[in-house]
Amino acid sequence: MCAIQAGNRGLRVRVLEQGPKVGLKILVSGGGRCNFTNLFADPRQQFLSENPHFCISAMNRFDPSDFIAMVEAADIPYHEKKLGQLFCDRSARDIVTMLLDRCAAASVDIQVRERVAEISPEDDGGFSVTTDKTTYTTSKVVVASGGLSMPKIASDLAFRTADSLDMTVVPLRPALVPLTWNSEDKPRYDVLSGISVDVEAACNGESFRENLLFTHRGLSGPAILQISSFWRDGDSVLINLLPDVDAADWLLAQRQSKPQQKLATVLKTRLVNRLVEVMTDHWFEDVKIGSLSPGAVAELGARLNAWEFKPGGSEGYRTAEVTLGGINTDEVSSKTFEVKKVPGLFVIGEALDVTGWLGGYNFQWAWASGWCCAQHL
Ligand SMILES: Cc1cc2nc3c(=O)[nH]c(=O)nc-3n(C[C@H](O)[C@H](O)[C@H](O)COP(=O)(O)OP(=O)(O)OC[C@H]3O[C@@H](n4cnc5c(N)ncnc54)[C@H](O)[C@@H]3O)c2cc1C
Repeated sequence: MCAIQAGNRGLRVRVLEQGPKVGLKILVSGGGRCNFTNLFADPRQQFLSENPHFCISAMNRFDPSDFIAMVEAADIPYHEKKLGQLFCDRSARDIVTMLLDRCAAASVDIQVRERVAEISPEDDGGFSVTTDKTTYTTSKVVVASGGLSMPKIASDLAFRTADSLDMTVVPLRPALVPLTWNSEDKPRYDVLSGISVDVEAACNGESFRENLLFTHRGLSGPAILQISSFWRDGDSVLINLLPDVDAADWLLAQRQSKPQQKLATVLKTRLVNRLVEVMTDHWFEDVKIGSLSPGAVAELGARLNAWEFKPGGSEGYRTAEVTLGGINTDEVSSKTFEVKKVPGLFVIGEALDVTGWLGGYNFQWAWASGWCCAQHL
């Protein structure tokens, strides 16, 4: 996006890409259909950063409608899946093809299989960019090398460059990532692998109502990916397995009206059978609901509304969609994306300490920061 806009402004642009092709993350995103933006993207809502105001200016200057206009101009069919999330009807390849066509029209020179090893400021104010093939000299460099997720195609170029130039990096951690079982829970819940449940997951003051997926490794699905960005080692995630009801009230009413019914029979009217079976093995004895005290019934209800899941960890960068943290935005202009103390050096996209929720927000940030930066090169 940045190369296209800079090329359109008449600048000579060279893209250096270490992989065999550009846009690999676009190709694998959104299950191959690329959730390329979100209709409801709001820079004050769905972005995490130590400096939450940083992303507002760029997100307002290049908003979802600007990217949608590009998609429509290229006749790419798309649809809203849910919650404002826009996906390609056919394939993520449509987005990459559109960007490549625009690069070609803007005379952008793209070099693939060329890995940047080092970016160093020169005494005359320009930069030397050393790759595994050669060294270039240039007056301006834009670092758009992303975060650490998908280790096979990621690199730490942005963070190494920041270190070498005395810039600070907000601590990095995998986000939008499945959370794993602790050693006690794994044997209990392993059998639930493959089951999906509508839940509300909460941690550190945030909550998300979405699907949760049990896996052999732990918990995944959109509710967990979203909350993983707020979870820290040692924290518990509270999972509301019955988000539409006050489970204690409901169970007390069942105790009153159907005292002869077994607990599992009652619970199976609202929860997946296999989940209830695991609960009868590990959470409670499957007795007649009328034989329990009101206090015991209320306690079980409270647990259904707030199951405390203590993850052993996360699946890490291998499966994380994004990297939380990044180059400290205090050191970068929110208007131009130029590094304040290194004129001529720019940083955009995920390499910065701006991380979106799941749902097309991270691409919208990448497009917006790239577009805005290009106006000031
Ligand atoms: C599996 C997966 C699915 C995702 N799905 C979505 C989605 O549907 N919607 C959404 O909004 N976000 C999604 N994301 C997140 C989104 O892909 C990223 O936030 C976004 O691509 C970041 O854009 P970027 O340009 O900053 O970095 P990237 O897209 O990561 O691009 C950085 C590029 O720089 C290259 N590079 C890195 N280091 C070097 C080097 N030293 N020399 C040369 N080249 C280098 C890399 O090869 C890469 O091509 C997904 C991420 C993953 C991993």
